[in-house]
Amino acid sequence: MKRSNPRLVWTLLVTLLALSLTPKATCAQGSSLVGANGSIDWNRYYTSAETNQILRELHALYPDMTELYSIGESLLGAELLVMEVTNEATGPAKEKPGFYVDGNIHSGELTGSAVALYLAGHLLSSYGSNLEVTDLLDHQVFYIRPKFNPDGADLALIHDQWLRSTTRPWDEDEDGKVDEDPPEDLNGDGWITMMRVPDSSGRVQTDPADGRIMGQASESAPGQRYELYREGIDNDGDGDLNEDGYGGIDMNRNFPRNWEREHLQSGSGPFPLSEPETYATVKFIYEHPNITGIVHGHTSGGFVFRLPSASDPELFPSDDLALIVHQGEYYTETTGREVRPSSTDPTRHRYGTLLTWAYWDQGIVGWVPEYSPGPEAFVTDYDGSGVIDEWEELRFNDEELGGRYFSNWEEYDHPTLGRVEIGGWHTKFWTQNPPPEFLEVECRQQVPWILYLAKQAPRLAIAGPVVEEMGDGDFKVTVTVSNEGILPTSLTGRGAVARMARDGGMRDWVVLPPEVLLQGEGYEVVEGTVRRVIGHLRGRGGQLREVGEGDATVEWMIRLKGPRAAFRVEARSDKSGVTRTEWIRVERTR
Ligand SMILES: [Zn+2]
Repeated sequence: MKRSNPRLVWTLLVTLLALSLTPKATCAQGSSLVGANGSIDWNRYYTSAETNQILRELHALYPDMTELYSIGESLLGAELLVMEVTNEATGPAKEKPGFYVDGNIHSGELTGSAVALYLAGHLLSSYGSNLEVTDLLDHQVFYIRPKFNPDGADLALIHDQWLRSTTRPWDEDEDGKVDEDPPEDLNGDGWITMMRVPDSSGRVQTDPADGRIMGQASESAPGQRYELYREGIDNDGDGDLNEDGYGGIDMNRNFPRNWEREHLQSGSGPFPLSEPETYATVKFIYEHPNITGIVHGHTSGGFVFRLPSASDPELFPSDDLALIVHQGEYYTETTGREVRPSSTDPTRHRYGTLLTWAYWDQGIVGWVPEYSPGPEAFVTDYDGSGVIDEWEELRFNDEELGGRYFSNWEEYDHPTLGRVEIGGWHTKFWTQNPPPEFLEVECRQQVPWILYLAKQAPRLAIAGPVVEEMGDGDFKVTVTVSNEGILPTSLTGRGAVARMARDGGMRDWVVLPPEVLLQGEGYEVVEGTVRRVIGHLRGRGGQLREVGEGDATVEWMIRLKGPRAAFRVEARSDKSGVTRTEWIRVERTR
C-alpha cells in the first residue's frame, strides 16, 4: 500500500503531470469544430479540451435540445461534462425516462468517447427528420458523457502513454516511489513503440519475408534473435524497464458494490469511490433516478460484456438474466458481434464495476461494449484466407494508409541495453482503437443498438379520468394507470425488490414504484388519499411478465366546496417520468 508516500511528492507529481498534459498542438484559436449545419469530422480523435469544445458548440447550435453541465472535476481539475439531449419543449429532462452513455474511463480506450460524442451529434442532427430519434427526444432524455476520465484520456491520446485509468500516482512495484519509471518516446517520433534488442537466446526473430515483423523464434528457422521491450529506460535503476508508469488505479474497479482490496482486485484503489470521477458518476446516477439504462463504452475486441460482472453467475437472478440475454440479441443482430458474460467463473470476479453497482443498487441494466474489433474490421484479406495476418496488415498500412501506423525499426543507443532498434505498430490506433480513417464507421455501427436500449424504457399512460356525479356535491373520479413501455416500472426484477413492513405494505424498494396524484382546487378528498402509491407495473415486453401488475385503477371521492372545481391526475415514477391528464372542470348540477 501507498501510505508511506509523502503528500508533497504526490502534489508535485500531480502538478507536473498537469503541466505536461497541456496539448502540444491545439487547433487554431477561435476555429470551430462543429459546422454551421452541425457537421463534425468523425474520423478524428479529440482531446478532452476539443471534446468539451464540440459539446459547447453543439449546445450553442441546439439550445432548445441540450443542456450542458459539469458533474465534477477530474483529479487534475478538468471539468466532467455531461450533455443532456431532449426536446425541452415537450417537458423537462427530469420528467422523462433517461439513458446514460459514457466512454473512455480507461485512458487509451478512446473509441468510447468517440461513440458517445457521435451519438450526441447523431441525435441532434437527426431530430425532426428521423422518426425514431424524434420520438425518443420528445419523450426521453439522453445523458452523454464522452470523457469519463479526461486526464488519463489526454495522457494516452496526446503523449501515447499507456495507463489503465486515472493519473493518480500509484506505486505499482511497491518500492516507495510513485510513477517513477514510465515508458518513454526515446526517439522522439511521437509514439511509444517497442525496442528490439539482439539476443542469441531471445524469444523472437524477424520474419524472413518481412524484416519488420517479429515472430516467435523457432529452432527450424535460422535468423537473428531478439528480445522485445516497450520503449523506455530504467529510470529508477532497479533493473526493470517501465515497471511503474503513470497511475495504476482502475476506476472500473473502484465502485462501491462488491468492491475488494488490491490483493483480490488489482487497481481497486484505496477505498470505494476514492476517485473524483467515480464519485461524480455514482452521485449523478443517484440524483437522476430516471436513468433506465447504461452504456459504458470501452475498447477493444468487438463484442459487448453483459452482466453479471462480479458475482457467481449461478447467483444472478434468472429472470433478469433472460431479459439481458434478450436485449443482447439486438446487439448481435445490428453489429454482427458477440455478447459475452463479464463473469463466467464462480470464483474469478471483476470487483467494483460500474455495472455491478448500477444493477444491484439502482436496478439498472448496463452494458460494456468493447468497441474496436481490431485489424480484421478494416484490413483487406488479400489472400482470401478468411484470416488477417500481419503481412496483410503491413501491406494494407503501406498501401492504403501511407504507412502511418507502423514505425519502421530505427537504430538507437540505449543507455543500458546498448545498440537497439525502436519501432513497431502504433497499437493505440491499430488494435486498441481503429485508425482514425475508420472511426466513423465504428461509431455509426453502435447507434441502432443504443437507441433500441433507450426505447425499452417504461412509459406511464393514464386512461380517464371517468367522473361520476354522486349528488350532494360529491363526485367519484376514477383513472386506470398502465405502462405502455417495454420494461416494467422497476426496470428489472432486482428493481422490484422491497421489504414487507409491519402493516403488510412494501417499503424500501430498490426502484420506487409509481404514484398517482390528484391535483386541483375547489374540492376536498373525502375518500382515498391525494397521493397513492401503486405497485410496479409490468411493461409490454415479453420478459419479466411476473414483475408488477398489468394496470392499476385508482378512485377518489371528492366533495365540492362551491359550485365548481378543477383537477387533473398525475402519474409518476422514477423510471418512467411524469404523465398528466388535461385539467378537468366539474360543476355541481344536483
Ligand atoms: Zn476498458
